[in-house]
Amino acid sequence: MIAIHPAFARLGDENAFAVLARAAELQRRGRDVINLGIGQPDFKTPPHIVEAAVKALRDGEHGYTDATGVAPLREAVCADLDRRLGVEVSPDCVMITPGGKVAMHMAILMFGREGAEIVYPDPGFPIYRSMIEFTGATAVPLRMREDNGFAFSAEETLALITPRTKLLILNSPANPTGGVTPPAEIDRLVDGLAAHPDVAILSDEIYGRLTYDGLAHRSLLAYPQIRDRLILLDGWSKTYAMTGWRLGYSVWPRPWREVVRKFAVNSWSCVNSAAQFAGIAALDGPQDSVEAMRAEFDRRRTAVVEGLNRLPGVTAIAPKGAFYAFPNIAGTGWAAKPLASALLEEAGVATIGGPDFGVYGEGYLRLSYAASMEAIERALIRMADFLGRPA
Ligand code: PLP
Repeated sequence: MIAIHPAFARLGDENAFAVLARAAELQRRGRDVINLGIGQPDFKTPPHIVEAAVKALRDGEHGYTDATGVAPLREAVCADLDRRLGVEVSPDCVMITPGGKVAMHMAILMFGREGAEIVYPDPGFPIYRSMIEFTGATAVPLRMREDNGFAFSAEETLALITPRTKLLILNSPANPTGGVTPPAEIDRLVDGLAAHPDVAILSDEIYGRLTYDGLAHRSLLAYPQIRDRLILLDGWSKTYAMTGWRLGYSVWPRPWREVVRKFAVNSWSCVNSAAQFAGIAALDGPQDSVEAMRAEFDRRRTAVVEGLNRLPGVTAIAPKGAFYAFPNIAGTGWAAKPLASALLEEAGVATIGGPDFGVYGEGYLRLSYAASMEAIERALIRMADFLGRPA
């Protein structure tokens, strides 16, 4: 065997994709499977966005673009940040990538190395830990606690920072918990970070447009005192139902954006040009479809939380953002991964076990409510039936 670099053996996986594949296999064999596993909107991309891509293709936008993204798209990102957050960003600090995930990858590659520590949310998006370990850095989990609404605590976050900490990863609204960290807690964290000027910050705000109960999203971009070491990750996937277009953006301090540009030139060159024109239409066009999708997620959120709390041994706090519920299943007597597997194989309901999101995920399941109300209601009936059976 010809040996490949050992770092690749340290890469983790995203089990949501494995569950999706297993659910599809069961469906091919004629089973009726309800998929609450995958983290993507079940809506179609709004038609005016699709039309903009079609028009770009008809107009001959078929070539390579600037590695950082076409200028009108980066300008549209800046105009959107100004409108929504009142924050001024230069298009020279914006990087367009094939999905927001690439920005996460780049940030972790830039700061991770043997001997470095990177603090990341746990339970959290599984790629953080995977990429940290890929670089040889030590992954330091920041526990997201149910009794804190799965928000991060400034005090606990700051307590994990050591002289070896190179990067702090934050994610609010959060996957897999739906937790949203209150602005006052973010204020406290930013105040505390003044004592750690050598720590870079990656704020993953991909669910920033999906908050409920009247909560406004508080972006880390709103704090000028950390702008010289902040990487903001966002994109179109969740807000505009565009997961398959592979379009994301990030905002970097200018010298770091230059590093990412150079890496892009060495790797993916640029994002698919038609998708970039679709991205302009999404940001500059009407936002009513964003609000309509958010309102529908909110309706489903209520149904999921009420239904989960009626299940024997299950309790669920109402998520404040994203489109996931993260019920506590400790009272069922099941461990999370065997329960997720039994629900899929025996009850035909795909969910993800909490341990797929980190060491503190045991005792929880993740259910995505980016599925129709009818599917959610049927899934809850099946789960009630399954959990109500004698063991
Ligand atoms: N960050 C979080 C927390 C996510 O849940 C996801 C997708 O599931 C991403 C980033 C990446 O999104 P994309 O690469 O589609 O922009």
